[in-house]
Amino acid sequence: MIISMKKGATAEQIEHVKEIIESFGYRVHESRGTERVIFGAIGDERGKEKLTCLEAQPGVEKVIPILTPYKLASRETKPEPTKIDLGMGVTVGNKQLLIIAGPCAVESREQILDVAQAIKESGAHMLRGGAFKPRTSPYSFQGLQNDGLVLLGMAKEQYGIPVITEVMDIASIEIISDYVDCLQVGARNIQNFQLLKEVGKTKKPVLLKRGLSTTIEEFLMSAEYVLSGGNSQVILCERGIRTFETATRNTLDLSAVPVLKEKTHLPVIVDPSHGTGHARYVEPMAYAAIAAGADGLMIEVHPKPEEALSDGPQSLRPAEFRKMMEGLKRIASAIGREI
Ligand code: PEP
Ligand code: MN
Repeated sequence: MIISMKKGATAEQIEHVKEIIESFGYRVHESRGTERVIFGAIGDERGKEKLTCLEAQPGVEKVIPILTPYKLASRETKPEPTKIDLGMGVTVGNKQLLIIAGPCAVESREQILDVAQAIKESGAHMLRGGAFKPRTSPYSFQGLQNDGLVLLGMAKEQYGIPVITEVMDIASIEIISDYVDCLQVGARNIQNFQLLKEVGKTKKPVLLKRGLSTTIEEFLMSAEYVLSGGNSQVILCERGIRTFETATRNTLDLSAVPVLKEKTHLPVIVDPSHGTGHARYVEPMAYAAIAAGADGLMIEVHPKPEEALSDGPQSLRPAEFRKMMEGLKRIASAIGREI
């Protein structure tokens, strides 16, 4: 339920209402806007009659049910957009767009340092690179594992850029958290509820990638798992869904951007690399994503895509990435945003 306080409610009235909600056994999510305070009462819906009576309390304007199954992720509970601090002065969810770039997988010291330097010089804000790779075939390159984390840490240090990598299982959350600024949960694990619960207990920002056949509501329920664990720093990433179309690796669902922005206060970014599977489609779809209102992008960049151990065909060369960044600056300024 949502308990909306009146514009002129006093601090005592607000505090008192909060105490009553808690005394009913609900978790209180507080949202302080410029004009009023809104409480989200999160818990068992069966006790909602008790909450309805709060309308009689001084300072309360109205008590209304939260209609969506995702309570904490919903715009109803928190109308203002969520801004997330990713460290080293990098944020997402405000006027400034977040550009994450880097190779699909960390392959060597030289490779990750080369990419880190190139993307930083072109204006990217965060370095990506998989250390533990979710590959369709057990015979494909599985990532450098812990050595990959060390190399990411090295690139972070050398170029002063925050880093993100995928966490595939509960056992590696702790070691990965020692090296990176943001934990990525990949498309294949987006409904691994145990993993979501565990990343929800950490204090690291979490990037959730939409699954190959995840509806928007299911995607928001995955976010709800992390939020309900106590971690409010969740970023959503549209990365394409599986359809009948085979011309592209996935079908990049850009309509998910305005839909998600309407339904949730969480930042939304787009990955046109996995979304299309072909380097030549990345630039146009990156432009379209920003024009559609995305808060940022995740782009695969490799110094030599033809030698990449994974996802070479969809990786941009550093020079192509630089050119794309120039175009993005023009799109961003046309819609009142910055890179
Ligand atoms: C990735 O970003 O490295 C990745 C594997 O993407 P996804 O989970 O979206 O397939
Ligand atoms: Mn990849």
